[in-house]
Amino acid sequence: CSVAESGVEPVMVDFTKLEISDLPSVILVGRPNVGKSALFNRLIRRREALVFNTPDDHVTRDIREGVAKLSDLRFKVLDSAGLEMAATSGSILDRTAAMIAKVLNRSQFAIFLIDARVGLHPMDMEVGRWLRKYAPQIKPIVVMNKSEAFNDDSSSLVAVATEARKLGFGEPIAISAETGLGMAELYKSLRPLLETHMSQEKKGTDCDTDGSINNEPENSKLPLQLAIVGRPNVGKSTLLNTLLQEDRVLVGPEAGLTRDSVRAQFQFQGRMVYLVDTAGWLQRTRKEKGPASLSIVQSRKNLMRAHVVALVLDAEEIANERRSMKHAEVVIAREAVEEGRGLVIIVNKMDLLRGDRAYLYEKVMKVVPEEIESVIPQVKSIPVVFISALEGKGRIDVMNQVIDTYEKWCSRLPTARLNRWLCKVMSRHSWKDQASSPKVKYFTQVKARPPTFIAFVSGKTQLSDTDLRFLTKSLKEDFDLAGIPIRIMQRSVS
Ligand code: GDP
Ligand code: GDP
Repeated sequence: CSVAESGVEPVMVDFTKLEISDLPSVILVGRPNVGKSALFNRLIRRREALVFNTPDDHVTRDIREGVAKLSDLRFKVLDSAGLEMAATSGSILDRTAAMIAKVLNRSQFAIFLIDARVGLHPMDMEVGRWLRKYAPQIKPIVVMNKSEAFNDDSSSLVAVATEARKLGFGEPIAISAETGLGMAELYKSLRPLLETHMSQEKKGTDCDTDGSINNEPENSKLPLQLAIVGRPNVGKSTLLNTLLQEDRVLVGPEAGLTRDSVRAQFQFQGRMVYLVDTAGWLQRTRKEKGPASLSIVQSRKNLMRAHVVALVLDAEEIANERRSMKHAEVVIAREAVEEGRGLVIIVNKMDLLRGDRAYLYEKVMKVVPEEIESVIPQVKSIPVVFISALEGKGRIDVMNQVIDTYEKWCSRLPTARLNRWLCKVMSRHSWKDQASSPKVKYFTQVKARPPTFIAFVSGKTQLSDTDLRFLTKSLKEDFDLAGIPIRIMQRSVS
């Protein structure tokens, strides 16, 4: 096999055939406002990251991950927050730096951005020192962003390049994340690096004779899209970190800290899970301007894109109040069900209800399922998991429930089995008026995700809501579909 024999020499790798988990990862680093988010957006070709003008917006404080496409190259791209060197002890910025150090250790490559219009800034030198200290294994590609500004003035750009070489990372490339200038140069620099890396990584592993990696995903292991939603401070970021088992997302008492949506992925029992953290958007008002209000639109979109929605509630709040779900939480739970998403309720911070408050623990365990049953009567037995994300507990419980819900959500029932079931169930139901009642002749599943069925009905009238509820309930009980939204449509047959 050519890859195995090639040592560290670059070989032709077909990046389009690699699974996401096998893709090399490239982190974007640089001081604030150099254009990391803009480049991230260009590479992932979606307007997912938020880009703002002022350096103190810190919109990109979290690390986002996406799959980059640059011609035929595919790689994971991580958008780091600004490497704020002037951090004071214990501040968010300090935590940002510590977190990036962790992520750097998992990235094989870095693109180090500077602002060509500003030239080499003292903070760029600081970023360079920082990279050498925390990630000596990475030799970043230096890019001079915003170079389109030098359209008619190449001598000034040459002067910036001379300065940029002082960083000690080799020849800089002039690019513009905004206009796309220099992307071909970036491709030329990245391709051999990524190919060499793949050659080393896959040395001795299975591969096709053409050197591409033979790694087709199995259908049963298709990635699951999970959205974690809830009001600010219920513990979404803490839970996310527990799931990822690393500090990928900043956690802190500052409400609304996770302003942008964070994409991340992890494997659970061999299944790839894409996580979409939709930071506490529920309490934001329309009047709000700037980053937070933009996040609402983005978070709603994320919710609709999710297969399973995990709604996080705060046990402490529930213990202290009469109702366990606030209006906003009811709205989102209903919205998730109406949109046909799988829903899992997570009651977090159970650790606060111990010792002499154990009676509250019991209360919370009892009232939450009851209230969910009453506010979403159309879906019985929505799963509820009680955890303490802070103690790092609950990963397995949460993921088992999420995967169980996902698998039910993906179920496909064969028509023959459904029609055998239909015969039995029709005799069980007490139809209002045997003679004039519509009859369900056939029953078939037309779609999964969520399971959607068609009842072919004969007779003058349509099935009543009571009949439909009966069929839904029986389907869920007999095929173990409790807790997920299912849909039944009806068609008339003569
Ligand atoms: P980050 O803090 O490094 O993530 O920087 P951003 O991506 O938020 O960009 C900061 C500012 O620079 C924004 O106003 C962008 O519109 C602007 N910007 C980013 N890339 C370019 C570019 O290639 N050319 C120009 N002229 N402006 C850019
Ligand atoms: P988010 O706004 O929903 O992302 O909430 P965070 O994850 O930032 O958590 C908000 C606060 O609640 C932080 O101070 C966390 O330390 C705390 N917290 C999160 N999970 C738990 C938990 O299981 N138990 C306790 N006692 N505190 C928690």
